[in-house]
Amino acid sequence: MILKDIVKSTGRYITGIVYPERCPLCGRTMYAGSAGIICQKCYGKAEYTGDSVCMKCGKPVSEDTEFCMDCTGKETSFICGKAVFVYNQYLQKSMAGFKYYGRAEYGRFYAMEMFKKYESWIRKISPDALIPVPVHEDRRLKRGYNQAEIIAGWLGEMTGIQVVSDMVIRKKHTNPQKELSNKERRRNLYGAFDIVKKSRELYPKIKCVIIIDDIYTTGSTIEECSYVLKSVHINEIYFLCTCIGKGY
Ligand SMILES: [Zn+2]
Ligand SMILES: [Zn+2]
Repeated sequence: MILKDIVKSTGRYITGIVYPERCPLCGRTMYAGSAGIICQKCYGKAEYTGDSVCMKCGKPVSEDTEFCMDCTGKETSFICGKAVFVYNQYLQKSMAGFKYYGRAEYGRFYAMEMFKKYESWIRKISPDALIPVPVHEDRRLKRGYNQAEIIAGWLGEMTGIQVVSDMVIRKKHTNPQKELSNKERRRNLYGAFDIVKKSRELYPKIKCVIIIDDIYTTGSTIEECSYVLKSVHINEIYFLCTCIGKGY
């Protein structure tokens, strides 16, 4: 899907032409031409994932730790992944605006940060497609957009990698994951995704993908998504998320 379609599907402009430009962290209105720039008050409040991260999921861990608690001893369908920001209070506010208050324009900022931090990693993997984690159709209609698709759309523009958002669907309504334990999260998501039957005919050459999402917590969403992709012989699966929790 190209950006034009995303703009069409969101039903609004996601640049500052129609909506005022805002700080992507606090939502404060900014001067024209400042899209994607953090305001003075929020400067330095976004915490980036550093060098000491889990080798599997990219969650910050204490030094000399290879894997975080969630990844220790766990086999996954994906190879590994990365995230840009630690999900601190500022990113929580930003993400809430992005997901629940129509601030679709923040997606460009998230993609820009992904691109800045991980361009060489993406190039090295050289995926055949970026796959945004799908939301259930009812939720997408209510919200007006799928937030992961917005991020993937911008990242696709920046990298020139095709975005495929019609391969995996979310067929099951899932309860919000926030309050659930790891085990409950997995059960909650079991069977939540499916592969669109025609997609293998449409995209026969896709073998390697990067899944795009907004927040990574325990990894059950990415795992379930990877699991269905593997069922159609997409064997090289990575992920890239905007935010991630801490592993300690
Ligand atoms: Zn701000
Ligand atoms: Zn991990």
